[in-house]
Amino acid sequence: MGQLVNYCKEHRMQDNQTYINLARKYRPQVIADLIGQEALVQTLENAFKLNRVHHAFMLTGVRGTGKTTTARIIAKALNCTGVDGNGGITLNPCGVCESCVSINNDSNMDVLEMDAASRTGVDDVREIIENAKYKPVSSRYKIFIIDEVHMLSKNAFNALLKTLEEPPAHLKFIFATTEIRKVPITVLSRCQRFDLKRVSVAELSQHLAKICGLESVSFDEESLFLLAKSANGSVRDSLSLLDQAIVYADRNLVAAKIIEMLGVGAKEDIYNLFLSVVNKDSAKTFELLNMQFSKGIELDLLLEDMLEICHNASVIKITSNPKFLDSSEVERNKAIEIAETSDLPSLVKLWQIIIKGIKEVKDSGNSLIFANMVFTKMLLVADLGDVGKMIDFLKSSEKKNLTSNPKVVNTLPQPPAPQPVPTVAPIIPPQPVSAPTPVHATTKTQPQTPFDDVPPPSMEDYGMPAPQLPKEEPQIFEQKTNTSVESNTEQQIKQEVSRLFPSAVFVGKENA
Ligand SMILES: [Zn+2]
Repeated sequence: MGQLVNYCKEHRMQDNQTYINLARKYRPQVIADLIGQEALVQTLENAFKLNRVHHAFMLTGVRGTGKTTTARIIAKALNCTGVDGNGGITLNPCGVCESCVSINNDSNMDVLEMDAASRTGVDDVREIIENAKYKPVSSRYKIFIIDEVHMLSKNAFNALLKTLEEPPAHLKFIFATTEIRKVPITVLSRCQRFDLKRVSVAELSQHLAKICGLESVSFDEESLFLLAKSANGSVRDSLSLLDQAIVYADRNLVAAKIIEMLGVGAKEDIYNLFLSVVNKDSAKTFELLNMQFSKGIELDLLLEDMLEICHNASVIKITSNPKFLDSSEVERNKAIEIAETSDLPSLVKLWQIIIKGIKEVKDSGNSLIFANMVFTKMLLVADLGDVGKMIDFLKSSEKKNLTSNPKVVNTLPQPPAPQPVPTVAPIIPPQPVSAPTPVHATTKTQPQTPFDDVPPPSMEDYGMPAPQLPKEEPQIFEQKTNTSVESNTEQQIKQEVSRLFPSAVFVGKENA
């Protein structure tokens, strides 16, 4: 708190007025100031250059991408009269003419803002339409900015349509919405649409660095990256976080302080944690997990980071290209390492475990023991690996050495449907034999494992159509074996086969 007071005092001294937060202080004033919206900037520049400015704009994008800011810049651009009072429409409003100043102060008589979230009815729109008939008082255009326009009622939209179809020459509409799909197509088709995109972490980091420079705040790159990442693509949120960070870290932004402030783990540590899981190193996994916990990291947030890492590794696995990731160089290299160490089915299973784990850990009174169990499940999945690979491996080893060893015969008639029945044949490696006890591995008698509550991967997870198996008659896999003591591997294979083919029944030769 003391720091905050000092910071505010300092800013008062610097600005000779009350402290202004960074988001307001550095709000873009001209279109070129908009960050990460190149397509929008280019289109608007062309429209203004060619004097083909539409009478209605529709700005859409998630919150914090600058829709209202853009609407105001367009309003100033349309009404600016220039420093000498003789200027025409321009995308670089002067900021000093009466029109620019009054729009900045929300006091312009001809630029009217309305929030459709609170004024949704047809009467509110009728008021606008009535007002729209009159010419602007002192500006070039009368401009209506309607925020969250998707909230208008159906009748309100209908009432607006007529004016949108045949607008008076002095009238402009600027609509903003976060949910473009709720805007009727009849309205959309009469507007020029601009999509404001989420700003990338790299662009946000650069922007924050620029502002730190202007504010004489020292920083390291990692700290700005962390702030940008937490802002989730929103410039406004990134500046609010920077505001907090400047106070928290006393104008010296270092990663350790920011991590402390955000309550997130250092990304590299979390990547190392994920690596230890896919490397099946349980000792290291629990050591790193405890280390994160003792640093005061929220374990559900830690799992959310694990989820992102799982996604990143999967993307690299599928695309072989890290350029799709919004990550730092270090993170990318770690993600590549994870992708090289693991297989896609395991990553899909880890994803399912983590998603479920986040909720469990969040809802629990004791997050550490719940997190320990989530990581236990993850380690088991990593250890089990890809059942497809396992079967291939066992098949090839059977071909090499074991002509007399366990074989699996599908004795059932094939289903009448034209779809082929995947004939996955679990092959069992040679095992020392003790007593001939045939094993019936049905769903009920399967060994229970801690990750039984995680849904098994479907055939679609492997990119194959779902198998069409006959429901009534069980598919019997007969095994020519006198094996009775099953190795863990055998049990795991049977378990996996039973999951993929729930009606499969394993029968020992003696019983067949
Ligand atoms: Zn101006």
